[in-house]
Amino acid sequence: MTQKHFSLKDEHDTVKMGANLSALCSEQTTIYLHGDLGAGKTTFSRGFIQSMGHKGNVKSPTYTLVEPYDLQDWQVYHFDLYRLADPEELEFMGIRDYFTPDAICLVEWPEKGEGLLPKADLDIDIRYQGEGRVATVTANSDNGLTLIEKLELN
Ligand code: ADP
Ligand code: MG
Repeated sequence: MTQKHFSLKDEHDTVKMGANLSALCSEQTTIYLHGDLGAGKTTFSRGFIQSMGHKGNVKSPTYTLVEPYDLQDWQVYHFDLYRLADPEELEFMGIRDYFTPDAICLVEWPEKGEGLLPKADLDIDIRYQGEGRVATVTANSDNGLTLIEKLELN
């Protein structure tokens, strides 16, 4: 299966989806997060990062472009490329140094870095649906396929 849909009825579901996916990651993983402002990309990231042991806040790194989290098992890099004016800025920030074997990268607004960002194992597209959201997860690699097969919301 290369694609799955998840109905996220409230914020709690979005957090849970992030937490559940984080528990399945067992190798270097890159996850692209698509969706309009306020869709829930950062909410998902918070669930993911806090479930990996981070105790504090998780805010979108809108101005710094990336926030590193040095966690027990993984380096997690949370990108928000919304303010990236030109994908070439990623060269200046040494983008390749972030995509290392012990790293999991969550990327909000990956469209802004097109051409210079490493490919994603999973694309997650979060859309508004009534009061809630629906997330469409697409696998683009063997790792992505393994993750999508195991991912559940319960
Ligand atoms: P983004 O990073 O995509 O701009 P945020 O995660 O910062 O969005 O904000 C999402 C907003 O929507 C938050 O106010 C959050 O409480 C809310 N939210 C998150 N998931 C859901 C959901 N499944 N249903 C309804 N509201 C949600
Ligand atoms: Mg955000």
